Amino acid sequence: MTSVHKPYRGRLRAVILDWAGTTVDHGSLAPVRVLQKIFADRGIEITEDETRRDMGVLKKDHIRALLHLPRIAEAWRTRYQQTPGESDVETLFADFIPQQLKCLAECSPVIAGVPDVVQRLRNRGLKIGSTTGYTRPMLDILLPHAASQGYAPDCALCPDDVGAGRPLPWMIYENAIRMKVHPLEAIVKIGDTISDIEEGLNAGTWTVGVTRTGNMIALSEKQCQALPQAERAERLENACRILREAGAHYVIDTLADLDSVLDQIEGRLQTGERP
Ligand SMILES: [Mg+2]
Repeated sequence: MTSVHKPYRGRLRAVILDWAGTTVDHGSLAPVRVLQKIFADRGIEITEDETRRDMGVLKKDHIRALLHLPRIAEAWRTRYQQTPGESDVETLFADFIPQQLKCLAECSPVIAGVPDVVQRLRNRGLKIGSTTGYTRPMLDILLPHAASQGYAPDCALCPDDVGAGRPLPWMIYENAIRMKVHPLEAIVKIGDTISDIEEGLNAGTWTVGVTRTGNMIALSEKQCQALPQAERAERLENACRILREAGAHYVIDTLADLDSVLDQIEGRLQTGERP
């Protein structure tokens, strides 16, 4: 007897939300400041653009990627007469942890409108999962802060919980298991970075990119509002293009625009389409 996998024709069952730049910390500012500071403490200035290229991956991997950028590796060699190695990754990461823990509590307010969106998602019967590039101690600081501001997902996982971070899909799989949600095509992954989109694609979920509140625009809500309209539109368009090129099924400005995208995805599911 042969078994045939039938296309799923049901409704969405869960969303999996990113943290910084998607649900908290408009502009994903907290990690940038801390990464720049730990390098500056070693006499190496790193630019905001350099800091933002690999945003979203596990922070130790992010530090390693920065050290491997040719310009930064060269600046390091000039200053220390040796190529940066794994022990430098370890010591920089050791510096990063306490400073990021301190900064997180101060710099990660819930993004305006997020509690309302999440309530609407719950009203349509969806579970709320989450993944991040932060470590467990960092996430444990964020969780009560976010809850006190009205945002408390059903599941919150970090790379430490599953052995590796984005773009690998393990955090999404574990969210699905803990929330008892299947199949993966009934799940939508939402985030503001390329690694968020890759994580969702690797897991086999639908993917939605977020621009305005995230890492690509890289501005606080106030700064973003202060931008001349034409410049803001251009930046949003650019961020949208990058996330589309990464493979995002949809791209929205903020989480508040999610409802109609979920309607469209459900329409596609009901015709038997899969991500
Ligand atoms: Mg993010």
